[in-house]
Amino acid sequence: MHILTGMNLKEIESITDRLHQSKFRARQIHNWIYLKSAKSIDDMTDLSKDFREELKKVAKVSEVKIKVKQESSDGTLKYLLEYPDGECVETVLMRFDNRANLTACVSSQVGCAVNCSFCATAKRGFIRNLNYKEIIEQVLTIQRDTGLKVTNVVFMGQGEPLLNLDNVVRAMEIFNESFQIGQRRLTVSTSGIIPGINRLAELNMQSTLALSLHAPNHDLRKKLMPIEGKYNLNDLKIALKNYVDKTGRRITIEYLLIEDLNDTVECAKQLANYLKDLKCNINLIPYNPVEYNDYKRPSNNSIMKFKCLLEHSGKKVTVRLERGVDIDAACGQLKGKVCKNIKL
Ligand code: SAH
Ligand code: SF4
Repeated sequence: MHILTGMNLKEIESITDRLHQSKFRARQIHNWIYLKSAKSIDDMTDLSKDFREELKKVAKVSEVKIKVKQESSDGTLKYLLEYPDGECVETVLMRFDNRANLTACVSSQVGCAVNCSFCATAKRGFIRNLNYKEIIEQVLTIQRDTGLKVTNVVFMGQGEPLLNLDNVVRAMEIFNESFQIGQRRLTVSTSGIIPGINRLAELNMQSTLALSLHAPNHDLRKKLMPIEGKYNLNDLKIALKNYVDKTGRRITIEYLLIEDLNDTVECAKQLANYLKDLKCNINLIPYNPVEYNDYKRPSNNSIMKFKCLLEHSGKKVTVRLERGVDIDAACGQLKGKVCKNIKL
């Protein structure tokens, strides 16, 4: 049985060829999947009934189930999806007032091996990579369920995308070619996996690279993110500059703000200094509470003070809008709580 989700036009043509149908039929099926978000082959109403029956014998649209769907008071939707092997991941749809953008936040792995101290996903450890079809299923599920077309995709759900780069790049190609989402509307966020950053630079994609920096010096970063022991700030800087040189793209620096830990005046100065010769914007992410640690979110005053200090260095600084905190859908809160062996 073929699963149509994740197939490109050529692959769909190989099915229609075998059923002695024209390439035009393949194009229709392709558009039903990616642009019109068909839930089943029966939805593809411009195919003849006979052909749909033939197609149903050899193919189906998807194998993913929505296990739980939650809606936040701010309109954010969070889905817990289950793949055929019983593993689950979360995916989030964010809508921002006054903007036409619909942003899907997708997971790239079940769990994560990077083990950052502030992140709920880390607590599950690493379970497995998602393949590219499983990644794009997340966006299709959102589209099918809401009837809306996703306009932006961020790889900021569970997992470290640059430790699953082949599948992530393939998924990005499909978002671009089949979903017709521009490369600039695709963002990959990484904890700083240098070989992955270098590979992305070589591919010269026009997507956005977001780097989770979170601390401006080695000791503090190592405390928050053990990956600093392997890929440290000095080496990261070289990789980031190379990325900018090769792609011409401005990097987004993500900086988590935790009260009295990395939100001090001294940290702001060190951060400005670290970033001074890098083409980047800075996105401050106030810490979202998760169990297992006693970090605190700084007051709005300290957040604004930190922002002002950085702005003095001439960088564009934004504070990330908090979405979906009441349903644990905000940054760092995804852990795929309900998973196999646990009954709902
Ligand atoms: N693994 C990738 C992408 C997923 S996390 C990465 O780490 O970049 C997306 C963003 O949420 C990262 O910047 C991550 O550091 C941040 N994050 C993790 N836990 C958080 C928390 N408790 N509060 C706010 N942001 C958090
Ligand atoms: Fe993994 Fe990102 Fe969470 Fe770190 S913040 S544990 S890299 S998902």
